[in-house]
Amino acid sequence: MERDMPPFENTGYDDRPVRVRCCDSPGCAASGDYRAPKNRDLSGYYWFCLDHVREYNRGWDFFSGMNTVQIEAYNRSASVWERPSWPMGEWHQREQQLRDAIRREFFSDGAADVSPSPPMSKAEREALAVLELTPPVSFADIKVQYRLLVKQHHPDANGGSRVAEEKFKGINQAFTVLKEIYEGDEL
Ligand SMILES: [Zn+2]
Repeated sequence: MERDMPPFENTGYDDRPVRVRCCDSPGCAASGDYRAPKNRDLSGYYWFCLDHVREYNRGWDFFSGMNTVQIEAYNRSASVWERPSWPMGEWHQREQQLRDAIRREFFSDGAADVSPSPPMSKAEREALAVLELTPPVSFADIKVQYRLLVKQHHPDANGGSRVAEEKFKGINQAFTVLKEIYEGDEL
């Protein structure tokens, strides 16, 4: 196998003074002797150690056949919803998480032929939690659970208890949020 020699000049995307280039995988201290294309148009390269270049190349295959929207959907569904924005310069971490998410998607049981989950907002996730639901759920599931909880926590059924009233309000708010999101999906 032909091996590219690591460059000894600063290539601009990395401001470390480069004598021995480190592996670009976050937290890896090995020297980055193997290059891998950053983009499909091969306009730039990452430098990895042997283990990480292999890992990177495996991850690369998962992207083929996906469009940008699908890749972004993976990105957003991969617990990124907890973070409002990505700091610049964390591309490697971001890509790593993206690849990990894709790997989980492909190799987790029964998930092989499941299409990527749509991205979920914090509001949606919280509303589902209020209704004690775990995604994925259908609007039908949500309605069944909503009716159940409304009956259970209705102030009239709880002697006008304030706690029950607050809970009841929360359930209604959550249902309003979920209705917006899920109603259109119902067939
Ligand atoms: Zn490495």
